[in-house]
Amino acid sequence: FAGDWRFIWASPSIETLPPMAGLEVAFAGRSNVGKSSLINALTGRSNLARTSHTPGRTQELIFFEGPEKAGFRLVDMPGYGYASAPKAKVASWTTLIHKFLLGRATLARVYVLIDARHGIKDVDLDVLKTLDKSAVSYQVVLTKADQVKAGALKTVIAETSEALARHPAAFPEVLVTSSRTGDGMPELRAAMVRLIAE
Ligand code: GDP
Repeated sequence: FAGDWRFIWASPSIETLPPMAGLEVAFAGRSNVGKSSLINALTGRSNLARTSHTPGRTQELIFFEGPEKAGFRLVDMPGYGYASAPKAKVASWTTLIHKFLLGRATLARVYVLIDARHGIKDVDLDVLKTLDKSAVSYQVVLTKADQVKAGALKTVIAETSEALARHPAAFPEVLVTSSRTGDGMPELRAAMVRLIAE
């Protein structure tokens, strides 16, 4: 999994996606959930995905290609749920993502990132509903687990699992990660490698 990951494509619209090839795994989550940090930690490239303290930047689907011969790609989806995002922007996110999810045969899985400090929010549940309507399997990944004490982490895992029970298309198992400590990264990498092997 480790090796030479590189940026290959950024697409602001459904019309400008790269041609489908190999397998793709996408990452979605609220702005500031730690998505860029997770992609960097996973790939071992500290600056592959741009981390940002200013949410609401350009809405693009960003594609990274890995070293696997099969042409395995990671897709960084634009963050959602930025509190002051204008309605039109939210609508354009939903449209872009919905079309992407429906039309992308190479998309093997979507990882929906949830901040372990905050748990699952209404805006996340809306995204799960959008995913339910697509044929893509998805799994929830808790981020920033290093910021939460063991007891509180147990509670957030239980609450998230309970919410997922109402979404049959979701993987019931919740992955727990920290980009800071590297916790959960081997498990997440292994899950992706299993996808490639399938
Ligand atoms: P994005 O907007 O979802 O791409 O989020 P970023 O990756 O830019 O992270 C948002 C903020 O959370 C940054 O200040 C990161 O340093 C911080 N962050 C990200 N992952 C972790 C983590 O695992 N642990 C801690 N403590 N902070 C994190």
